[in-house]
Amino acid sequence: MILNMDAEFFTNKENILQAIFDNSLNAMMVADDNGNYLLVNQAAANMFGYTIEELLRMNVKDIHTQPEHADSAQLYRQYLSRGKEIGEFAFIHRDQTPRVAMYHAIRICSNINLSILEDVTEKKRAVETLEETQKALEKTTERLQLSTSAASIGIWDYDPVKNQLIWDETMFRLYGISPQDFPATIEAWFHRIHPEDNPFIQAQTFEWIKDKSEIDTEFRITLPDESIRYIRSKGISYRDESGKISRMVGTNWDITKEKEAEAQKIRARQLEVKNRELEQFAYVASHDLREPLRSIMSFAGLLKMRYANQLDAEAGEYLEFIYQAGGRMEKLIRGLLEYAHIGIEKQREMIDCNVWVDNVIHDLSSLISQTNATIEIQKLPVVQGYSAELHTLFLNLISNGLKYHKEGIAPHIVISAKTDAKNHTFCIEDNGIGIDAQYHEKIFVIFQRIHLNNFYEGAGIGLAHCQKIVELHGGKIWVESEPGKGSRFYFTLEAD
Ligand code: ADP
Repeated sequence: MILNMDAEFFTNKENILQAIFDNSLNAMMVADDNGNYLLVNQAAANMFGYTIEELLRMNVKDIHTQPEHADSAQLYRQYLSRGKEIGEFAFIHRDQTPRVAMYHAIRICSNINLSILEDVTEKKRAVETLEETQKALEKTTERLQLSTSAASIGIWDYDPVKNQLIWDETMFRLYGISPQDFPATIEAWFHRIHPEDNPFIQAQTFEWIKDKSEIDTEFRITLPDESIRYIRSKGISYRDESGKISRMVGTNWDITKEKEAEAQKIRARQLEVKNRELEQFAYVASHDLREPLRSIMSFAGLLKMRYANQLDAEAGEYLEFIYQAGGRMEKLIRGLLEYAHIGIEKQREMIDCNVWVDNVIHDLSSLISQTNATIEIQKLPVVQGYSAELHTLFLNLISNGLKYHKEGIAPHIVISAKTDAKNHTFCIEDNGIGIDAQYHEKIFVIFQRIHLNNFYEGAGIGLAHCQKIVELHGGKIWVESEPGKGSRFYFTLEAD
């Protein structure tokens, strides 16, 4: 039986080999050393897109595409002379698409060669796509890292099972510590949280671990230099099917500036309310005070007019004191009323300060000529501001410069301004009597005066006005001065 089978096999061997050749899924091609095809199977025909008959009229040169292998027949001979060879073979399909095959070439007799080929174009493309995707992913990760780092967004990743908290570089930067100082546990993070926020954040975190999917919270942290920063933290949790937490990932970023701006806004709002109350109080008080004062003044006036000759010298003097004090009080009340009114009917507009200062100088012309003053006005900016208030501001500062001049020395006033990205800083400089450093802040308080009435008349309200006006514009005002050496009053207005 076995013998029979062997015999049958050997009898049909050629047919069997032919069947293998014809039906192989791999392309098989027999060629001579010149590259002419002598035998090709159907898989080869399919691979190149030609019929078997067409291929048998072709040469390896006709389908090889690599320019460096232009003389492919020669190359073919060369590598085949070495016995057998495995490699890549670039070819052009009949539909003109470039493709790649893996070949296994075997020398089967003196000048005849067999090549077994597999089209690997798709496989190669898949590998290339995978490599490209990997590169793109690496780039995206790199970009994400760069942008989170540029935006100072720290990324954290917590494994609750191992109690392992991984921070990126930005997290360490935000908390002002280095990885050596951080044991990478949740307790180490709690330790960084401000004591007042700590209990709440711990409770919130454990609640989150228990059954929440997202967290969005804020807290304060204490940096190693004891400074305090506000942090916003957002995160999501991953859970297994049973709901048990397996991972928590999230971000931290610094919101101190926003918090401060918010607090400032609240303070500004409170201040505005307080100011309005004060204004109302000042208005009502001064308005109501005016009435009795008017009576005092008119009766004092009548007394003076009708009974002056019946009063002795002392009584006349007392009456004169009443009259003068009443006059001063009237001025104070008027000042208080004006102060209460600052900003009430405000209108914000573009103001060319050179024009505004010219107007003020015009209003002060008689005082200027009386005092023989010289006024130097440098180039001033155009600002966004409240017109009437800015007029009062320049008027008060320039008239003070004229008023507080040294005896016998004509006032010289220089008005200048400098502009940077944030502010216009104005300066009104005089060569007057100057102010002792101990009064540099006091003089801006309402009704505060440091020079005696006998020498310099005033109600002590002008600089309080100026301060209120400058603050209304979001700026500040201050003085640099020394007694006898003149004064420089500075104020800032926001630059647009
Ligand atoms: P008033 O001039 O009516 O007294 P102000 O509020 O304008 O009120 O000024 C407060 C005080 O500041 C003044 O009484 C004066 O002592 C001082 N002062 C203001 N401007 C000058 C100046 N340019 N030189 C010296 N002292 C000044």
